[in-house]
Amino acid sequence: NLDHIAAGHNKRKIIQQMSNATIIDEKVFNDCLKDITRALLQADVQFMLVRDMQTNIKKIVNLDHIAAGHNKRKIIQQAIFNELCKILDPGKPAFSLKKGKTSVVMFVGLQGSGKTTTCTKYAYYHQKKGWKPALVCADTFRAGAFDQLKQNATKAKIPFYGSYTESDPVRIAVEGVERFKEENCDLIIVDTSGRHKQEAALFEEMRQVFEATVDLVIFVMDSSIGQAAFDQAQAFKHSVAVGAVIVTKMDGHAKGGGALSAVAATKSPVIFIGMGEHMNEFEVFDVKPFVSRLLG
Ligand code: GDP
Repeated sequence: NLDHIAAGHNKRKIIQQMSNATIIDEKVFNDCLKDITRALLQADVQFMLVRDMQTNIKKIVNLDHIAAGHNKRKIIQQAIFNELCKILDPGKPAFSLKKGKTSVVMFVGLQGSGKTTTCTKYAYYHQKKGWKPALVCADTFRAGAFDQLKQNATKAKIPFYGSYTESDPVRIAVEGVERFKEENCDLIIVDTSGRHKQEAALFEEMRQVFEATVDLVIFVMDSSIGQAAFDQAQAFKHSVAVGAVIVTKMDGHAKGGGALSAVAATKSPVIFIGMGEHMNEFEVFDVKPFVSRLLG
């Protein structure tokens, strides 16, 4: 009895239940949607997005019009899956970088989101594909940020730039980028400090860094960010032209439903996911497995 399935139950199981019902009628369909809604909210998908999806599904799946003999359960399941995939597609790809031509990529995100780790992973990933990356630490805010980047960069044999004494992140970014342009690096990655959305002055500083140098801004988001994802992503988007999203810590329990919010808020695609603390625990984002995981 779908009415008696508690929140948190596996939606696949719930959908499966529908095949056990003798007749899939309107009520079963609505109950099924309600349960999926609950589960998506638990996976941190934003309420508004879930509500829109519900409305769309009702429009798409017209039970009366599904011909006899067709598997209605499969049709509903597929419709939900497709809707979620659609939410994750902003309709345009991220700015494409060209190997051999200098690009400057700036990473933004809250402190602790995994930004510094992800900078190195991103550099390492491209290095393995024949790029010549370099790392610049423009995080003058967090003590130890430069050491962390330096350590990671050294391990991956990636050139790095930063300063223990200079306190102006804009200056470091500009100097670092200049240096690596001279060295013919084709992928210059700038790590910034984890800004809190309320810190207007710091945001302004970040905007200056952006205008001075950058081709692509990547917003790094912790998968466990929860319902706060939309506001955070939007706050960053208002300050700098975020063009892509990376979701970290997908190796943990969080399902990363906040990624849907980040895509909606920034109108930018998710390009990679972080799958662990190590340099190579980094994967190109693939929408289908991500949505499958969200659903169960
Ligand atoms: P920053 O403050 O945003 O620069 O965050 P850090 O890069 O310092 O990362 C914060 C913590 O998250 C560190 O302990 C990282 O090792 C960890 N971390 C980063 N990415 C991942 C990931 O994909 N999976 C896991 N399990 N931990 C991660």
